[in-house]
Amino acid sequence: MQVQENVPLAPLTTFKIGGPARYFVEAASNSEVAEALQVAHLKKLPFFVLGGGSNLVISDSGWPGLVLKIAIGGIDERTENGKAIFEVGAGVEWDKFVARAVARNCAGIECLSGIPGSVGGTPVQNVGAYGQEVSETVESVLALDTKDGQIRELCNEACGFSYRTSIFNTSQRGRHIILRVTYALEPVGPAHVQYADLKRYFSGRTRVTLAETRDAVRQIRAGKGMLITAGDDDCRSAGSFFKNPILSEKQFDDLTQRAVAKNLQIPSYPALAAQKKVSAAWLVEHSGFNRGHQHGPVGISRKHALAIVNRGSATAEDVVEFKNEIQQRVGDLWGIKLEPEPVFVGF
Ligand SMILES: Cc1cc2nc3c(=O)[nH]c(=O)nc-3n(C[C@H](O)[C@H](O)[C@H](O)COP(=O)(O)OP(=O)(O)OC[C@H]3O[C@@H](n4cnc5c(N)ncnc54)[C@H](O)[C@@H]3O)c2cc1C
Repeated sequence: MQVQENVPLAPLTTFKIGGPARYFVEAASNSEVAEALQVAHLKKLPFFVLGGGSNLVISDSGWPGLVLKIAIGGIDERTENGKAIFEVGAGVEWDKFVARAVARNCAGIECLSGIPGSVGGTPVQNVGAYGQEVSETVESVLALDTKDGQIRELCNEACGFSYRTSIFNTSQRGRHIILRVTYALEPVGPAHVQYADLKRYFSGRTRVTLAETRDAVRQIRAGKGMLITAGDDDCRSAGSFFKNPILSEKQFDDLTQRAVAKNLQIPSYPALAAQKKVSAAWLVEHSGFNRGHQHGPVGISRKHALAIVNRGSATAEDVVEFKNEIQQRVGDLWGIKLEPEPVFVGF
């Protein structure tokens, strides 16, 4: 295990923004993770766990302590009680694992095709898209508890999954280093074609394979700049920048009245309505931030209103300034505080 110094972090993120890590270690096994943690303790350094860097805004000054990049590989497969069980190293690229599961005709994560980042990153914010969330298939998470240095297996319930949250990014943020995730998939299961975009894509079709669903999701995502594609600067982002707000009935009534006063109608999507959520993208667009909106070196993606993009030379300060402006305007016009989805590091 090699401890490097002053390693630039921007190239290790999808946003391509941020300063260096004072110390940097890449750990390819459980024991290397434990060793890196030991180094951080001995040198009294704050440490940060880096996966695929796809959900981060790293400050311009970078990280003053040790960044631990998880590079644990391996995908083990077995069948148990009729389920296809996959034990996957936290450093495996998520979409590579999805491709493997789909190739094995195992259902449960096909709609999560094309999401960037690592396997270890998926339980953190309970990644979801097109009607699926990892919480539906995560059986357990193997993690090193930094409080006592023990490695423990956390069952699904212990992870406290909810919309874009788990214990890993709320009550126990920063406590667990995820080493491996076990998923229970459905062998030869049906593809989950429930989301409006997917239904439209397959309109008129009754039987759709997992491989077709994966291709469709990737194609739809590419059209929205939500698939990392070489040469497409609309995907130089951290994905969706704001969570869809979950409203109380009173808040929803207030929002509806504000919309009526402006001769507008709040769009109703069944998938969002079921969870009492409203579209953050609609709020952003109806606050004067249209697709393609420029704000110096940052802006809104030309393909999706919810992605803040780095037009090439943006700093974290530019991003934060633009984020604040959007939050302020949405708050003033619609009475709703948008919550950012990415993790802010080193601020
Ligand atoms: C173009 C684009 C599209 C996206 N689309 C979606 C989408 O459809 N749905 C969705 O939910 N998300 C989406 N995202 C966000 C992002 O891809 C996911 O949140 C992803 O799971 C983050 O994983 P990562 O490995 O990149 O984590 P990182 O960005 O490296 O880290 C994110 C957080 O997880 C923690 N973390 C990472 N790995 C570990 C580990 N092994 N142990 C403990 N903590 C860890 C980090 O400390 C940090 O707090 C998108 C992002 C982009 C850029």
